[in-house]
Amino acid sequence: MKISSRVQNLNESITLKLNARAVELAEEGRNIYNLTAGQLPFRPAKKFVQYLQFELDFLKSFQYGPAGGLEPLREKVIQYISKTRDINLEAAGCLVSNGGKSVINNFLATMIDPGDEVVLLAPYWVSYPEMVELYGGKCKVVGSSIYDSFTPSLEKLEEALSDKTKVLFVNSPNNPSGIHYDEQWMEGLANLLLKYPDVFIVSDEIYFELIYFDPKPKYFYQFEPALLERTLICDGVSKSMAATGLRIGYGVGPKDLIKAMEKLQGQTASGPNSLVQRALLHFKEEAFDQFLGPIKLHLRDNAKLLKEKLNDANLGAAWYQPRSAFYFLIDFKRLPFYHTYSERGVNEDYSLEICERILNETGVAMVPGGSFGQINTGRISLVLEKKPFEEAIDILITFFTA
Ligand code: PLP
Repeated sequence: MKISSRVQNLNESITLKLNARAVELAEEGRNIYNLTAGQLPFRPAKKFVQYLQFELDFLKSFQYGPAGGLEPLREKVIQYISKTRDINLEAAGCLVSNGGKSVINNFLATMIDPGDEVVLLAPYWVSYPEMVELYGGKCKVVGSSIYDSFTPSLEKLEEALSDKTKVLFVNSPNNPSGIHYDEQWMEGLANLLLKYPDVFIVSDEIYFELIYFDPKPKYFYQFEPALLERTLICDGVSKSMAATGLRIGYGVGPKDLIKAMEKLQGQTASGPNSLVQRALLHFKEEAFDQFLGPIKLHLRDNAKLLKEKLNDANLGAAWYQPRSAFYFLIDFKRLPFYHTYSERGVNEDYSLEICERILNETGVAMVPGGSFGQINTGRISLVLEKKPFEEAIDILITFFTA
C-alpha cells in the first residue's frame, strides 16, 4: 500500500501526541494537569439541548439536507453576522459545513492551485499551513512577538504581500495567543488591503463571542466595506456554544465563492448534520450572553490568577494581557529555566522538547507553540477549573524559575 505523498507530507497533530502521553502518564497513576484543551469543558446551553431533543421526533431531522446547509439557517447566519459585526451582507452567501475547519478546507480546495501563495500571521492556527500545503499552496509567515502582544506589524505584512499573494488569513480573536488585534491595527490593515486588490482574505472569527476583556473585536471590513467582496468570514458553534463535537461551522462570503464551495461540499461531504442544523433554527442569539456570561468570568479569573502568580514570582516579563478565546501563550525565552536552551542555539525551536519535558517531569500538559509558528512558546488553556488551574500554574512556576 502506498499512501499519497500529499498525505504523507501532512504533520501529525502535536496536541494529540501530547494528549496521548498525558493519558499514558495518568494510566500509570500520575497526577496530570491537562492545559492542552481547545474546547470548553462545559455542557451546551440547556435550551439548545432541549431543541436537539425536540427535533428527534421528526423524520426530516435524520435525512439528507441541501448540500450547502438548510436555507433558513443560512439566512439566519447572515442576519446574525450582519447584526453582530454591524455590516451589510445583502450581497453575500452562506455555506454551512461540518465545522469551521471544514469551511476552511472547502475554501482552500476551491481557491488554491499548486504554487499559490498564502500569507499567515504568526502565531497562527496550527491547521492553516497543513491544509494550504495539502492543495500545493505555499505559505509565507509574518512573525510577531510578546513585545507587541503577538500582533504582527503591518509594515512586515506589507513586505510579505505581493502580486503573487492569493490569500491572507486573519484570525482574531486568536488561537493560540488569546488576543484580538486592536481597532487601529484593523483600520491599518483595511488601508493596506486596498493597495492589494487581488488578495482574498479569510477572517477566522470562530472565537468572536468569547471576549472576556474589552474592547470588542473590530474587523478590517468594517472600515472598508468594499473588502467584503473578497472576504470569507468563518464562524461556527464549536467554541461559542461549547459544541465542538456537533460539527457545525459557517462561511459567509461572495456568492460566487460560496456557490463553488457548495458544489465541492455536495460532491465530497453532502450537507452537514441535519439534526443539529434544525435545532439551531430555534436558537436565539441572545442566549449567548446568558450562557457565556459565567464562562467569560471564569476565563477572566484564570487569566488574572496567572498574571498575579507570574508577577509574584518575578516573571512579569512573560506576561501580556490576553482578552479573548481561552488561551495564553507563554514565552519560554522570557523565563529563567530557558538559559540551558538559549546556549544551544538562538533560532532553534525547542518548544516540543520543553513541553514533553514539563509533562514528564511535572505532569502539566501544554501545547508547544512551534506548531503555531511561534517558536519556544507553549499554549496554556485557561478553561480548567480554578483549583486545578491554580495548582498547575504553581507547578509550572516552580519549573520556570529553576
Ligand atoms: N479556527 C480556529 C482558530 C480554531 O481554533 C478552530 C478550532 O480549534 C477552528 C477554526 C475550527 O473549529 P471547528 O471545531 O468548528 O472545526
